[in-house]
Amino acid sequence: MVSSVVFPLVRFCVMEPLSRPAVIVADMLVDFVTGALANPPSQAIIAPLALLLSGARERGWPVCYVNDAHLPGDVEERLWGPHALAGSVGAQVIPELEPHPGDMQFGKRFYSGFHQTGLDVYLRQRGVETVIVTGQHAHICVQHTAGDAFFAGYRVVLATDGVTAFTPADNATGIAYAEQMYGAVPLTNAEILATPITSGT
Ligand code: ZN
Repeated sequence: MVSSVVFPLVRFCVMEPLSRPAVIVADMLVDFVTGALANPPSQAIIAPLALLLSGARERGWPVCYVNDAHLPGDVEERLWGPHALAGSVGAQVIPELEPHPGDMQFGKRFYSGFHQTGLDVYLRQRGVETVIVTGQHAHICVQHTAGDAFFAGYRVVLATDGVTAFTPADNATGIAYAEQMYGAVPLTNAEILATPITSGT
């Protein structure tokens, strides 16, 4: 099988040092965990994400939350109904992952954390070269965020124990698509935090 040959090689290559990383957390919001679009599987990534974010802050990596902050009538409502309305409790990051001083939050009205949010400029001004994408959903906002990161020239890592979706199949589909189309590298938190860093940001 080609895949059994290729994937170990890819994995070997990506264990080279992460280059100027930042962590992006997508939609770990009240509405996406317990609210309008409640997703019970998201509970499983809260503790791992908290550890990853703690490790990132210790290392001086930028931590950026990309949060749905919709206006009434946004196009996504056609598919999902009203959710994460700007300024509402449902649009707030869950308390367990509350942003720390120095973290950044970017409101978004579309799936991608890069679309009309200012995230790209923020990362570029800090010399970020690799984005570690986390949160939910793997096949929706995580995928679109990873895609825009790829198109903008960033290297993309997916934190496999910090990403989820409504179903394991959707999660696997999203991760596989990002691997194949964006060269995203799936790494566990332990692998991310153990990986040598070429330079700080
Ligand atoms: Zn939305």
